[in-house]
Amino acid sequence: MKLFGSSGIRGIANKEITPELALKVGLVLGSRKKTAVIGRDPRVSAPMIEHALIAGLTSAGCDVVEIGLVTTPTLAYAARAYECGVMVTASHNPSEYIGIKLWNPDGMAFDSAQQDEIEKAIETEGFTRVPWNLIGKFEEDGNAIRAHMNKIKKLVGNSSLKIVLDCGCGAGGTISPYLLQELGCEVITLNAQPDGHFPARNPEPNDENLSLLKKTVLDFGANLGIAHDGDADRMMAVDEKGNFVSGDELLTIFGFYECGDSKGTVVVPVDTSMMVDDFLKDSKIVRTKVGDVYVAEGIKKFNATYGGEPSGSWIFPKISYCPDGVYAAAKIIEIVKEKKLSELREKLPRYATKRGTLPCENEKKAEFMERVKVKLEPLGEVLDIDGIRVNMETGWVLIRPSGTEAKVRITAEARENVDDIFEMAENIMKEALK
Ligand code: MG
Repeated sequence: MKLFGSSGIRGIANKEITPELALKVGLVLGSRKKTAVIGRDPRVSAPMIEHALIAGLTSAGCDVVEIGLVTTPTLAYAARAYECGVMVTASHNPSEYIGIKLWNPDGMAFDSAQQDEIEKAIETEGFTRVPWNLIGKFEEDGNAIRAHMNKIKKLVGNSSLKIVLDCGCGAGGTISPYLLQELGCEVITLNAQPDGHFPARNPEPNDENLSLLKKTVLDFGANLGIAHDGDADRMMAVDEKGNFVSGDELLTIFGFYECGDSKGTVVVPVDTSMMVDDFLKDSKIVRTKVGDVYVAEGIKKFNATYGGEPSGSWIFPKISYCPDGVYAAAKIIEIVKEKKLSELREKLPRYATKRGTLPCENEKKAEFMERVKVKLEPLGEVLDIDGIRVNMETGWVLIRPSGTEAKVRITAEARENVDDIFEMAENIMKEALK
């Protein structure tokens, strides 16, 4: 069984992700690293998994510092002083899930080579238990949240805006309300009490889960609304008119203000809107595979100023390579201080998007994609980093095999008629499926 998915190790608590598994992950990691920092989100199962990890790490001789209930970006920022970081979280998944995500000192999640090494070692029991006198030391450190806040306060200016902040009962409640208040904002909080049952809303901060936030922004006449997912590596926003700001819009707005006059390089996944290219005309836009880890790797590789994924993951390498929803919250306030969020949105070009799927058996996907590529190549500039995207004068289309289902996905975006582009792509796909 493949242990690591695109977001680390994740599954149902006490069924797929057990203390026995966490112990082994700890033993394997502790056999390779001398020091580790560990933290957790508020999930019911998080202390159980965290304690098993600590037992494994120290049993292998690794010194462990525990920073308690924190956001993922706080843990990733703390990792800079250790050989690795371990975050016990299932991010935006529902409450029955738990996960383990491993971090490098620069805030970059373990890449596939590092994950493969850990996975292989777990299978082959590739770890060492040290004699009693070499068992790793254990300490607690209560300063990680303050250190993360201080770093952010050095990078963004004060503001006196009225904000509604919805932490979704996730880990964001440990830091964002305090940070925004210290920055001078009037903060009205929703669901700022961490609670692993996520009683208020689904932890994913998407349009349909944020109806209370939208309403509260209007009720209080606030300047904007901000929402986090369960571990606050994500951040989404609602404008002062109570409208949800899409991921592509936020991605573009952050890109514009992070790059400033330097123009810079911005890294985005291959399924991102051409809004980014058209609005950030002077910046270099680099596209990667879909997934925030690939965006982070791209930022490092191209020495980029900023990168993000429309799901709500915004990466600012001046802090770390981990998506930082807490810094993003502080940054959007600094931006909105100058200009209303609805006015910023009005300036962005807007294009119609259409998505769909076609059935395709898993074993036929590779051959199908080859055929599609041959047919798409004459139409425009082809990118084949993750599926096949073709950029044309009139828009673009992306054809990507699903990683989990017997389907291929199609995304089309057009300057004018999206149905035309979609239909054209669909016909090519049907032809290739014959
Ligand atoms: Mg998350």
